[in-house]
Amino acid sequence: MNWFDNEPDDQLLPLDETRLFQRLLSLGAMFPPKRAITSMCRGCLEVETRHVYECDDHRVTCSKCNGRVDLWPPFEAMQVRHEWLPRELAKKLGQIKPVVLLPNRVWRLAKVSIWRKPVVVYLLRYGSSSDLDRLADALNVDDEHRQIVLSTRQELPAEVVGKNRLAVALERVARLEPEGLVFGLPNLAEVIAEIDSTPTVGSMPAPRWFELSEDGSRLRVQGEELVLRRKQGAFVQAIAEAHDAGQARPKQSWVLKRSGYSSQNTSLAQICRRKEFARFIDWRNGAVAIRKIPLPKANGRENKS
Ligand SMILES: [Zn+2]
Repeated sequence: MNWFDNEPDDQLLPLDETRLFQRLLSLGAMFPPKRAITSMCRGCLEVETRHVYECDDHRVTCSKCNGRVDLWPPFEAMQVRHEWLPRELAKKLGQIKPVVLLPNRVWRLAKVSIWRKPVVVYLLRYGSSSDLDRLADALNVDDEHRQIVLSTRQELPAEVVGKNRLAVALERVARLEPEGLVFGLPNLAEVIAEIDSTPTVGSMPAPRWFELSEDGSRLRVQGEELVLRRKQGAFVQAIAEAHDAGQARPKQSWVLKRSGYSSQNTSLAQICRRKEFARFIDWRNGAVAIRKIPLPKANGRENKS
């Protein structure tokens, strides 16, 4: 979707016969191609490309100094309809129209509920310019909620994203199909959960209340020891890794993936059938953690596995 980020604003693109651009045209994401001409000023050497009717060629002058210009042969040029993408995205989130926060650059798409929390979703056209403060100011208008900023960039600079603001690459959540834009809340929620649960490097490591042996085969908490077999070690190591990155309760899905288990596992018993395991590992509400104090020992015989 990089066509959306083309800089500068309203740049005229040479007519592109590829299927992508033909599709964008038929979807309404591009203005239909029109005759365009490139001129160079004889005085200040300014080069410009403009839509010009054939009969008006002789009237073209330099827009900087009004001087006389030389013309290159005309061509058919298309133009991105910048309001198309924000409008389509907003519609898919149940909003009739997006709110323009900064013309051609920042749109508030919708306020939605993700994992039962209110989230405001934005679209940002980053371009290549350096007016980051203006972009940040536009986003700062709404400061009370969690903000999700969609953009064609993989990453946004720190000036634009903040502690309540999460950047999501548009290509991770939306794609163009012949019938139109494919985008929806369930997909967005899934990607956000994935980003949220991935431990970020650089946050303050919290002190460990547990000891985990180098090979991940033994976990010690409050003087009690849990022996970990096979992948169980990788499972606990993943939790420890997340803990060290500032995530004391990482998402189950992340830990399962990290330690090579199928995300189809829905209970701790599927990781380890020993009751002992649950004494040390807390698994609830979609998150896992190492307990600070092991649960009391269960009566009866342990089920070894
Ligand atoms: Zn000029």
